[in-house]
Amino acid sequence: MTQDFTTTEMRDARYVMHPLTDARANLQSGSLIIDRGEGIHVYDLAGNRYIEAMAGLWSVGLGFSEPRLVEAATRQMARLPYYHPFGQKGHGPMVDLAERLVTMAPVPMSKAFFTNSGSEANDTVIKMLWYRANALGQTRRKKIISRHRAYHGITVAAGSLTGIPANHTAFDLPLPGFLHLTAPHYRRNARPGESEEDFATRLAQELEDLILREGPETIAAFFGEPVMGAGGVLVPPRTYWQKIQAVLARHDILLVADEVICGFGRTGRMFGCETYDIRPDVMVLSKQLSSSYLPISAILLNERVFEPIADQTHAIGTFGHGFTGGGHPVAAAVAIETLRIIQERGLVAHAAEVGAWMQDRLAGLAGHPLVDEVRGVGLIAAVELTPARVAGDGAWPPGALGRRAVLHLQQAGVISRAMGDALAFCPPMIIDRDGVDAIVAALRIALDACLKEMA
Ligand code: PLP
Repeated sequence: MTQDFTTTEMRDARYVMHPLTDARANLQSGSLIIDRGEGIHVYDLAGNRYIEAMAGLWSVGLGFSEPRLVEAATRQMARLPYYHPFGQKGHGPMVDLAERLVTMAPVPMSKAFFTNSGSEANDTVIKMLWYRANALGQTRRKKIISRHRAYHGITVAAGSLTGIPANHTAFDLPLPGFLHLTAPHYRRNARPGESEEDFATRLAQELEDLILREGPETIAAFFGEPVMGAGGVLVPPRTYWQKIQAVLARHDILLVADEVICGFGRTGRMFGCETYDIRPDVMVLSKQLSSSYLPISAILLNERVFEPIADQTHAIGTFGHGFTGGGHPVAAAVAIETLRIIQERGLVAHAAEVGAWMQDRLAGLAGHPLVDEVRGVGLIAAVELTPARVAGDGAWPPGALGRRAVLHLQQAGVISRAMGDALAFCPPMIIDRDGVDAIVAALRIALDACLKEMA
């Protein structure tokens, strides 16, 4: 067993280049190899059990061993393992899923377009918006507004939307025409004495100023995650979305809601747009859509976006964009089954109830000397750490404490992720209160271990 573990790690170091990883560090030690999953847990090759407090990548909503998803995939695999949506072809699972998504959207939507990942979906939306602008004869309407600390993916255009330095540095991103606004992080970005509402007003004014400076006729859309995920779980300040949407409406600028993390219950409502009363023109969906058992993403478009695009495809004779795996029948079948299970088991209400418990329990850590801020909504949260109170300013470089804490947490049996010095918690939506308590207990152990090292 031990030999096998070592061998796989060594082969990982020898043959695999990992995303979001220091490649030199991986050459030294390989990675933690996960072997199997059960409910909210995963097991490594040595048999060590971990609570997957990130649900993989914010995505395995139904946990790691849902037999109905395996059965749905197997059934579809046997019936029609592959077909595509190009050139007026289709298949049942894609149609069923499109109908389900369009009808469950919180605002009127017209069509679903399928892709394989969040990045592909966001890239596709950008191309759709450019195509639409050309269709309308608004050929200057190509700029896209996003926010610092946004995460919308890593392909060339989606990576330009992203506002995280690590995703830009040395990649020559962002491309020109992608404009980033201040992140709506009240604790870090508000001015002394500024209320949450005043902070939101200032950010909306910043948006308005940018639009006027650039020219409203040059702006295609504003992209936003209802709650920013990978940028640090940033919950918008009160009135933020209301004020941002008022500015966009005033200048007739489209709103794209990236629901890749928030969608399907994460914030305690089916969509983050419902939690924050957001009325988007386009929604981007992925991750929990299939509980990530298979890759799939979907774009929902309203009539305002679809109609000019449809005219243009008619004039040209085609929409010259699509992916071999887009709307894959097996992934679509798994997504349909995922949505059925979420509905049948009342998992959105469950996420709201257990989520409130998780927020409350994590808030109980606020007095710990290393904790700077606890934030979140529903079943997504971050605990931001600070070494400064204990070790003094500048003693630890940014991110070092976060990395250390994640390591201690892993040793205590919980997988989290550091975003700088903030630790993220986004467990499978099937988690119960005991599971949450186990995460919080392990976090206490990890923080105390860090504290001891600093003494
Ligand atoms: N959008 C959001 C909000 C995300 O969190 C992510 C991934 O974490 C993406 C887009 C990109 O998705 P993918 O990794 O599937 O390309």
